[in-house]
Amino acid sequence: GNEKVSAEQEEKFDEEIVAFLKHYKEVYQYSKVFYISDKSGKYYYEGGVSKVISHEDTYDQWYYRFINSGKQISLDINMDEDNQITTIFINSRLEASDGRLLGVIGVAMQMQDVQKMIQESVGEADVQAGLTNAQGEILVDLNTDQSGSRNIFDTAELDNVRADILENKDGQLVFWYPGEGYKICITTEYIQEMEWYLVVCKNNIKELRSFRTIMFHNFCVNTAIAVLLIVIIVLLIRRHNQAMFKVATMDSLTRLPNRRYFYEVILKKAMEENSQKVVFMFDIDDFKHINDTAGHLAGDAVITQVAEVVSNTIGKENLLARWGGDEFCGIIYDNGACADQMMEEFRQKISDMKIREDGSVSISIGYVVVNRIENIDDMISMADRALYISKSKGKNQITKYKE
Ligand code: GH3
Ligand code: MG
Repeated sequence: GNEKVSAEQEEKFDEEIVAFLKHYKEVYQYSKVFYISDKSGKYYYEGGVSKVISHEDTYDQWYYRFINSGKQISLDINMDEDNQITTIFINSRLEASDGRLLGVIGVAMQMQDVQKMIQESVGEADVQAGLTNAQGEILVDLNTDQSGSRNIFDTAELDNVRADILENKDGQLVFWYPGEGYKICITTEYIQEMEWYLVVCKNNIKELRSFRTIMFHNFCVNTAIAVLLIVIIVLLIRRHNQAMFKVATMDSLTRLPNRRYFYEVILKKAMEENSQKVVFMFDIDDFKHINDTAGHLAGDAVITQVAEVVSNTIGKENLLARWGGDEFCGIIYDNGACADQMMEEFRQKISDMKIREDGSVSISIGYVVVNRIENIDDMISMADRALYISKSKGKNQITKYKE
């Protein structure tokens, strides 16, 4: 029945997320990678599901704070007990195309690693670099491995150029002259998404004038590389999000939307639209027999082929999802006549399909025509009941739900 399929699906879904996290942790050498599903509250990491987060647990409060903040990305700094190891957590919202929250994906990097990365690219020891927010609070100090409490504008000399730094959103240089020699400071391209500023300072350049220009040039180039690194991190996070979105919403065999996405996003969106539509469900007939005689892999191929035939027939305006196992569901945005034709067309095409030499495939379809979806579960069970009638009347046929 449905419940068993659902539990199986859930398990497969969990495995896919865990595999994804494991892969990304290895590829990018993050010290930590995790995903929290907003719906189930499950906390996934590369080793499995470690817990279900809860409003009562103080350790989980950051999650609720973050999702309520409305921010796309947040940066958290965490120090271990002896202040030896500082970890940067970057959390970002994962959303469905309509903005519905699916969950939060997080990566963590050890400060030392980021520091090394930046220093190697800047290549100069007396360079100070840090990330600050718009108030000038130092979020990450890339030199001292300390963060949080200090503010770059605590020093009078920097306070004088506060506006220059914060209003500089295109990566220009800011100079200032504190007594002897001078300091230069580069604020980076303001990282819009995070509301961070990367501030890089070089102290007291006392070299000869001609020398200065060269140093200065190197400094700019190296700093640009450091900035690039930060931008790359942001881009990586975006890419993670895209990949994670697929894992969370797509069935890996057919590449169709999965049951969860169909139910939680597609149908909920369809509920808000006031036009007539057909919601259908179908199930492959005697699929167990196909598995038993042709093998599980051939069974997989049949599932994929059936999915392809149906999606091609109903076209891009309409939607097909894998409900689980050999069961599918979909929406056709139409007043009925055209939907009838489409369903008849894919039923026929599938029953004309051949697997191996002797085998044939067919599907049984049930559907319901709705104006407004009042209750998603009721509507699904109507389509399901109609599907059951198609099965009991001998399969390979279409039934419309009637009260
Ligand atoms: P009916 O005509 O009444 O639908 O009979 P059936 O044999 O198709 O019965 P049922 O729908 O209950 O069987 C579905 C089978 O599909 C059971 C399960 O082992 C198999 N199955 C579920 N998911 C997959 C999959 O991803 N690949 C393969 N090859 N088989 C699957
Ligand atoms: Mg079946």
